Amino acid sequence: MSRKTVLPGQVTPSGHLATLGVMGGGQLGRMFVQAAQEMGYFTAVLDADPASPAGLVSHYHIQTSYEDEQGLAQLMQRAEAITTEFENVPAPALVTLGAHRPVAPSAQAVAVAQDRIAEKAHFVACAQAGGVGPAPYAAIETEALLQAVPGDLLPGILKTARLGYDGKGQIRVQDRAELAAAWAQMGRVPCVLEKLLPLKTELSVIVARGADGQVVHFPPQRNLHRAGILAVTEVFEGNLPNALCEQAIATTEAIAHQLQYVGVLCVEYFVVDDGSNTGTLVVNEMAPRPHHSGHYTLNACDVSQFDLQVRTMAGLPLVPPRQHSPAIMLNLLGDLWVGANGQPQTPDWAGILALPGTHLHLYGKLSARPGRKMGHLTVTGASIEQVRQTALQAAALLGIEPWA
Ligand code: ADP
Ligand code: MG
Repeated sequence: MSRKTVLPGQVTPSGHLATLGVMGGGQLGRMFVQAAQEMGYFTAVLDADPASPAGLVSHYHIQTSYEDEQGLAQLMQRAEAITTEFENVPAPALVTLGAHRPVAPSAQAVAVAQDRIAEKAHFVACAQAGGVGPAPYAAIETEALLQAVPGDLLPGILKTARLGYDGKGQIRVQDRAELAAAWAQMGRVPCVLEKLLPLKTELSVIVARGADGQVVHFPPQRNLHRAGILAVTEVFEGNLPNALCEQAIATTEAIAHQLQYVGVLCVEYFVVDDGSNTGTLVVNEMAPRPHHSGHYTLNACDVSQFDLQVRTMAGLPLVPPRQHSPAIMLNLLGDLWVGANGQPQTPDWAGILALPGTHLHLYGKLSARPGRKMGHLTVTGASIEQVRQTALQAAALLGIEPWA
């Protein structure tokens, strides 16, 4: 479907207000909906969960599965343009939508991000054109490929090709025997084995690319993961070597261009400890949507990653975002809702909000489970020192381990 501009506040020929649709009703969809509404759009969310975070705040909430034909038809009827907030929306559903409405990102781009084998092949192709490559890896789809795995990939991490997230669908393996057992444990589904790398740190880059090929980016974020889940994102001048930042931005832009990508794209990188001062950059994975590590943009930048998602799908102009404050984002996982005695508790929000420059975002989820993303806290301030000090104070109040 060719792309036309969907201006905010426009009344459509069918007599309703210009509406933007999103596949998926999680927290990313919620923040997308809020950004679209701020600009005057109506919104439509497709998610089967009646209590989905995005469905709760949207004008329209279509409560069907992603593959339900009637649900998809309703979404197309309601919305002038459609995006996704979840990379595991079945690509065929996006193909169906894309035949009738502008869909950003496209089914084809989402399909690449859904499959680690296709994704890594794309990274390798981009690296051949001068970008940063992935960690050494091998695809394991058959017994023969398992046997043929080069020994220098061990110790490694076995990752399912599809449906992994937050460190799920991953098993660390020391040797061939553990690798064979881990693949059996995964049910012999297609996987990749990646060499386990010594990491100095991790970073990510978020870009937005329009249908005309224009691309803008946020400054690279420095990310700390704990148990495979993003815990802390820090974004301020000097927290990452400039040379690595430039390389990461150029590689991310190349990855987006080569996919003819339209929308917001996040690419995650490892900084591998090679004994040098800065370390070496390796590309890890991409998310065809706004990303948790970009939530700070809501409070610390003049244009957020969700604003850019709206602009790209609606065919509006893109402007380079400007970060106006140093920022630290703390991920608020369900674990914080459990007290030392194992009893449910409400985190000390009053204490958090008494600190200067704290921005609390809760996603409207009724039940907290360990590892569940309940919200995030962004700290902004006039100086890096102040932001760090406040973020560490907030972490102490919440029971989040301090970080270096
Ligand atoms: P997910 O889809 O769960 O985010 P990732 O591949 O990004 O999967 O892995 C989650 C985290 O596990 C990474 O952010 C990193 O901290 C760690 N990790 C993954 N692969 C490697 C590797 N090859 N070497 C070292 N650490 C890794
Ligand atoms: Mg990841």
